[in-house]
Amino acid sequence: MRENGHAEEKMREAGLRVTPQRRAVWSAFGDGEDGHLAADEVFVRARRGLPELSRATVYNALAAFVGAGLLQAVEGRGAVLYDPNPDPDHHHFRCQGCDRLYDVPVEGVEELRISGDREFVVDRTTVLLRGLCPACSAAG
Ligand SMILES: [Zn+2]
Ligand SMILES: [Zn+2]
Repeated sequence: MRENGHAEEKMREAGLRVTPQRRAVWSAFGDGEDGHLAADEVFVRARRGLPELSRATVYNALAAFVGAGLLQAVEGRGAVLYDPNPDPDHHHFRCQGCDRLYDVPVEGVEELRISGDREFVVDRTTVLLRGLCPACSAAG
């Protein structure tokens, strides 16, 4: 897998040892299409490739990947979701129908301002939009 090779390179660059466990955990994210997974989903998927994998190993690998910038942790519904999109400023859409979290391009984000008279220093702007994804809205 192309993305896997890329990830192993990044693991090495970040000073992480490439282990079969970490490779299995990374493989849970497919080619990057299967982003936004909760730790439990990662655990289930990674065990298909490496059945002896423990939950603690999966959690440690996820923490290492987040620390290395390979994954980012985004807030899900009641759980942290792990996202292989390396862009820290990308935006999300949550479908209320299928509960999937999509990466979406959003226009006009640069114009967002906090109103009121309190002085906040903003250094990142990411937005979460909600509604129905194309598949769910087509299904009615
Ligand atoms: Zn949907
Ligand atoms: Zn994302």
